[in-house]
Amino acid sequence: MHKSRNKNQPRAGARDALPAHRPAHVRSISVPQAQVGSRNEGEASESGEGELEPTPARTGELYVVATPIGNMEDVTLRALSVLAGADVILAEDTRVTSKLLDRHRVARKLLTLNEHNESQMLASVLERMAHGERIALVSDAGTPAISDPGARLVSGVRAAGGRVTPIPGPSALAAALSVAGVGEEPVMFCGFLPSKKEARRSRIGELHTIPAALVFFEAPHRVQETIDDLAQIAEGTRRLVIARELTKMHESVHECAVSDAPDWLAGDPNRLRGEFVLVLHAAATEARKPADWEPVLAALLEELPLAQAVKLACKATGAPRNEVYPRALELSRAAQDHD
Ligand code: SAM
Repeated sequence: MHKSRNKNQPRAGARDALPAHRPAHVRSISVPQAQVGSRNEGEASESGEGELEPTPARTGELYVVATPIGNMEDVTLRALSVLAGADVILAEDTRVTSKLLDRHRVARKLLTLNEHNESQMLASVLERMAHGERIALVSDAGTPAISDPGARLVSGVRAAGGRVTPIPGPSALAAALSVAGVGEEPVMFCGFLPSKKEARRSRIGELHTIPAALVFFEAPHRVQETIDDLAQIAEGTRRLVIARELTKMHESVHECAVSDAPDWLAGDPNRLRGEFVLVLHAAATEARKPADWEPVLAALLEELPLAQAVKLACKATGAPRNEVYPRALELSRAAQDHD
């Protein structure tokens, strides 16, 4: 089926104008060929002496292409170039992807790849790649394989030795993190929580002790319950960022203590509308309690060189050198910064 010519193929006459290594059926709009899938400009095939190098045989490739999460202009030039140069585009919902392609005047063959047929599609994708085809994978919005179909396909293709290339761009995950103000905290992406109350609460119970900012995707019909559960289970002072409808007309980003979030949400029914990313900042780490020997060490450091102060502190208090020495380094650095 994939060998058949579609309405976007150029007529026979036009075919002659294309470089020999490019099958005519892959182009319907003008795309600079060197850019399609190139990792950088250095991959163009012209040699330094101005002669063309022999054209390599085309190898198949799977491109994982990020598409907008709302604002249709958030598509990269490279994504459009790859989509326009693909032999086939695998789309989660072909109607959704058609709208994006129409808007950017890209006309390519579309096939459905969703959670129901992902495993079956692997064999036909590998076969296409063996014939040198370029295959683009997109989801309805954002980056495929992030809480979206595609993970099994990319693993399968790589396991079979195929080349899989990311075409990065929008993702609700990165967009929310970019405005959440997560600094040095580690970040854990948790995807969607379970929909059943008991399972969801138990999962939050497991996650909330992890010393990291936690990122959740959430749907409008569940966001209230999820925020209620977070407020009940996580430490109330943790900051929660509620990122809603990112890149869309009603975009909003609200931050508050997680214990205040249910009331804030209840304050306006519009706050429950749209798509959500929740970023629960890490719990504030408790101030470190100084060890009993620290005042002795600090007093000695004021009078003696570091090595001597460490030696005497260990002798006087019985504290282990492997704890005293690093602390002495910290204290003397802090004293130098203070001076
Ligand atoms: N793979 C996609 C990505 O990289 O953005 C995510 C797909 S997941 C099925 C859809 C979820 O992403 C939504 O339920 C919501 O939690 C989040 N999401 C998608 N678009 C969003 C937006 N514009 N604003 C906020 N969250 C969004």
